[in-house]
Amino acid sequence: MFDTHLHTTFSTDSQMNIENAIERAKDLNTGIVITDHMDLNYPDKEKFIFDIDEYFNQYGKYRNDQVLLGLEMGMATDYIEENREIEKKYDFDYVIGSVHMVDHVDVYQKEFYEGKTKKQAYEQYFRYILECVKSYHFVDSIGHIDYIARYARFSDTEIYYKEFSDSIDEILKEIINKGKAIELNTRRIGNKTSAQELVNIYKRYAELGGKIITIGSDAHNVESIGEHFHIAREMVDLCGLKMVYYNQRKPEYSK
Ligand SMILES: [Zn+2]
Ligand SMILES: [Zn+2]
Repeated sequence: MFDTHLHTTFSTDSQMNIENAIERAKDLNTGIVITDHMDLNYPDKEKFIFDIDEYFNQYGKYRNDQVLLGLEMGMATDYIEENREIEKKYDFDYVIGSVHMVDHVDVYQKEFYEGKTKKQAYEQYFRYILECVKSYHFVDSIGHIDYIARYARFSDTEIYYKEFSDSIDEILKEIINKGKAIELNTRRIGNKTSAQELVNIYKRYAELGGKIITIGSDAHNVESIGEHFHIAREMVDLCGLKMVYYNQRKPEYSK
């Protein structure tokens, strides 16, 4: 298997050393794709930005069939060209397109939720993802569709497919039409309810014609690499999807 989403020291919020990550992955008998985090539109310009030339300079020597070099690109409707330039310029194996900021506010921040019902906040989030998926034709997989459920300031942050089926369907259809993969981010699937609710979304993706899925732990430390992958595998089988990772921007089937 491949853990296709993890953050090392080029991500401003991770202290994970690449050599430790590689060692851990070997122990787990899994491949990894390093996907350090670039969010061009983050308001604090010191955060979530890194020197990509330096990234390839330093990490090039570790690169092989089991250690691939990718990017988690923060998708934003006002930085499409800039992001496109980055994707074109560098020789990534894999690019995840993720939404962290919605209409210039990080959904990690409580101000995103102020004065909004859960329905309003989540619909705004899904609408923004849809807009991004429509314009980011150059990413490989769409990251953590359930990102908002990690940080929302509501008593129950879970995404119930039935409550948001129209918006979620639109996103899934767009992903499928664009020939992209969708990510199953394993961060929340240790929780049974979350795993079940996510299965509803990924089953729907399969029903609408989706075929491929990437699995990523979003690890920021070595202990989290490959976390909950046994659950992820069951979920993927249950949904009838095929697990892939990207090497040189091409999907390869995982075993
Ligand atoms: Zn992310
Ligand atoms: Zn991430």
